[in-house]
Amino acid sequence: MTDKTTQVVTRFAPSPTGYLHIGGARTALFNWLYARHTGGKFLIRIEDTDRERSTPAAVDAIFEGLDWLGLKGDGEVVFQHSREQNHKDAVTALLKAGRAYACFMTAEETDAAREEARAAGHALRSSWRDRTPTAEQLQQPHVVRFKGPLDEPLLIGDAVQGEVRFNTKDLDDLVLLRSDGTPTYNLAVVVDDHDMGVTHIIRGDDHLNNAARQSLIYTALGWDVPKFAHIPLIHGPDGAKLSKRHGAQAVGDYAELGYLPEAMRNYLARLGWSHGDDEIFSDEQAIGWFDVADINRAPSRLDFAKLGSVNAHWIRECESERLLGLVTGALRHRGQTHVDAPETQEVLRRTLPLVKERAQTLVQLADLVQFALIERPFGLDEKTKGLMTEETVARLKRLHETLSAWGDWSMEGSDMVLKNFLENEGIGMGKVGPVLRGILSGGHPAPDISKVFTSLGQAETLARLDTAVFL
Ligand code: GLU
Repeated sequence: MTDKTTQVVTRFAPSPTGYLHIGGARTALFNWLYARHTGGKFLIRIEDTDRERSTPAAVDAIFEGLDWLGLKGDGEVVFQHSREQNHKDAVTALLKAGRAYACFMTAEETDAAREEARAAGHALRSSWRDRTPTAEQLQQPHVVRFKGPLDEPLLIGDAVQGEVRFNTKDLDDLVLLRSDGTPTYNLAVVVDDHDMGVTHIIRGDDHLNNAARQSLIYTALGWDVPKFAHIPLIHGPDGAKLSKRHGAQAVGDYAELGYLPEAMRNYLARLGWSHGDDEIFSDEQAIGWFDVADINRAPSRLDFAKLGSVNAHWIRECESERLLGLVTGALRHRGQTHVDAPETQEVLRRTLPLVKERAQTLVQLADLVQFALIERPFGLDEKTKGLMTEETVARLKRLHETLSAWGDWSMEGSDMVLKNFLENEGIGMGKVGPVLRGILSGGHPAPDISKVFTSLGQAETLARLDTAVFL
């Protein structure tokens, strides 16, 4: 589908619904990738003609989702509502060209005409289709309908769906302007896409029928029809249409669940598009590889296990100060207000590299650092208490002594001091590991003991041992 002669212009055209849906996010991503791949432009248009639903908050929610995902549009955002005059001008042109007509049917007449059309085996036609209203009649309330071909084959070439065949007898004379003078969706989309110079329309396949209607309007206006690519919707893990019962729907929910934007981009790109067997790839790779021709024709299924493993990869890759900031944010979000203190930041700085391998999300990572953040004094759990025999307490006191004299709390140093201690005591890790883990972690999940030493540092390790052994 790559066209070298003209610059590719794609667009994402969401109707503000209050949040950026995961399916919309993927549509935006595909448009962004294709524009980047071809060196073209990616435009954003907010389809805010439904004034009641298009509140500033609903519009902001879309931008918030796109910003978080890192999908920036090129150039000014277009607000569909502000282009109403352009939509009306197009209708004037269609009326002049005899490709639209004023229709004065009442609701009852329209119902009757629809019945009649159904019986005759075609879509709705108005009795006003071939009539010329008088100037006086035109003062009366009326809609303006499109005057399409009555019974002709119509072929839509779609980069994903292939050649899709329609017949214009199944496409009604759709309303272009309502009786209050406002433009309808199919008209506005055509006029805006044309005026914005859109060359490729990549969107959900729920719009495939609209593509047929829209292509007729383009042709009637004497405009080139853009290339279409209708992508199958995302389904839930069970294969059913994605719905609330499958879990997170909004991009913001995924942010809150602790997924990284780059992981979402990677996972969503892979959802319905593939490049060989590659599962993990950078933005640069995706941009280099992405072609609309490789979008799958079958619906894709959301797979949380796969998303988790992709996210785990990007957590491991995450630059350490950025990861620190993200985990700090996740901790703050759960109400841990002391996390910004410089000492706590230092603890996190030491701990994150030791535990990040085990996390699939930032939320899990926030759990995995808890052992290092808990404040003394904290009690021992029953299991640990049960392990505190006289022999063990004596051994822990000797460990306390060894650790007090030890200076190297790096990972190698911690490994070394522990290894030496076990050798001197003539015991294996199994003898002292569980009790030590209980004492040092307060029952929270914790990594290997030597990592716990490095994470806590000398003062805190000794203090935790003190509380358990000497008090
Ligand atoms: N505004 C439409 C929607 O949110 C999309 C229109 C289009 O992409 O042509 O479903």
